[in-house]
Amino acid sequence: MKRREFIKTSGLLAAGAAATGSGILSGCSSSDRRFNFNKLGKGEGLKLTFQPYELQLRHTFTVSSYSRKTTPGVQVQIGYEGFTGYGEASMPPYLGQTVESVCTFLSRVDMGQFKDPFRLEEILAYVDSLSPGDNAAKAAIDIALHDLVGKLMGQPWWRIWGLNPSTAPDTTFTIGIDTPDVVRKKTRECADSFNILKVKVGLDNDKEMISTIREITDLPLAVDANQGWTDRELALDEIFWLKENGVVMVEQPMAKERVDDNAWITERSPLPIFADESIQRLADIPSVKGVYHGINIKLMKCTGMREGWKMVNYARAEGMKVMVGCMTETSCAVSAAAQLSPAVDFCDLDGNLLITNDLFRGMEVVDGHIVLPDRPGIGLELL
Ligand SMILES: [Mg+2]
Repeated sequence: MKRREFIKTSGLLAAGAAATGSGILSGCSSSDRRFNFNKLGKGEGLKLTFQPYELQLRHTFTVSSYSRKTTPGVQVQIGYEGFTGYGEASMPPYLGQTVESVCTFLSRVDMGQFKDPFRLEEILAYVDSLSPGDNAAKAAIDIALHDLVGKLMGQPWWRIWGLNPSTAPDTTFTIGIDTPDVVRKKTRECADSFNILKVKVGLDNDKEMISTIREITDLPLAVDANQGWTDRELALDEIFWLKENGVVMVEQPMAKERVDDNAWITERSPLPIFADESIQRLADIPSVKGVYHGINIKLMKCTGMREGWKMVNYARAEGMKVMVGCMTETSCAVSAAAQLSPAVDFCDLDGNLLITNDLFRGMEVVDGHIVLPDRPGIGLELL
């Protein structure tokens, strides 16, 4: 669906614009108005609407078995007393959710029963109870609800959580596994705009990838093995080599099932090791403690901002490091994740930079730094 069609078919976007009377671009400026707290719990319930929205990729994504130019998403709105919160589900194929499964889940959710959006705990516990999975669909509701509540309060979530936006680490920008020529070209394209790059490794050309990038730039690198390493001794040797070559952290060295091997690497590694595929939700943290130094929190894995914030705090209390990542998604879900960024050690928030049909302006990357908007909720403006 094209952006224009999305806006046309989106009842609540239109309703938001009508409420402020100055066209579709003011859909988010309902946040400029003050919410009358005396109305809380007395009017109509929350109104949930959603529609699929296909993201156009800036570069064709190719793996050995297929190649694609788009990736699926679902946009969600929650309306309440003339205010609109925006949310999004993004569904990378490996998580097993589809546009159909997300829409089926969302159509089962009865948000109308809730008249007080501030009861996040109660509302999100109900949403979570509807099925054991569907984490991206749950995240979409969580994000929209946080955006709404932030707008009702007139404050962005980083402020509500007590964070200082200038402490957010610079975001990485990811370079995929490819031929040296392509890696050289991609590195040249992004080296001036970012202060840290992330490199996908885990095949037998890891050192070639890193050496190729080193021909172009001295920027610090994060690497993500995506469970690709199969021998722990070789993996550890490689990690020492990576450290000598300016790598600062490693994500998911070996298969998540190989708990003892990952723990063995972590114990000996000169670089911090982060769990990604090994960790989904808050309840998984005890199982990765002692196995990795840190966790990669992604809203689509952990059902959204509320649980994501709890994970940050739980992991910190356990002495673990934290990073926040994202999927390929619009500035909606990326800006939601970015609210956590001042509280983490590494940020991997480049998903909105990979698409050409974003619907929103939100978190931005300026000279490689994350700039969190002062706008309320998750800080969106409709494009
Ligand atoms: Mg990863």
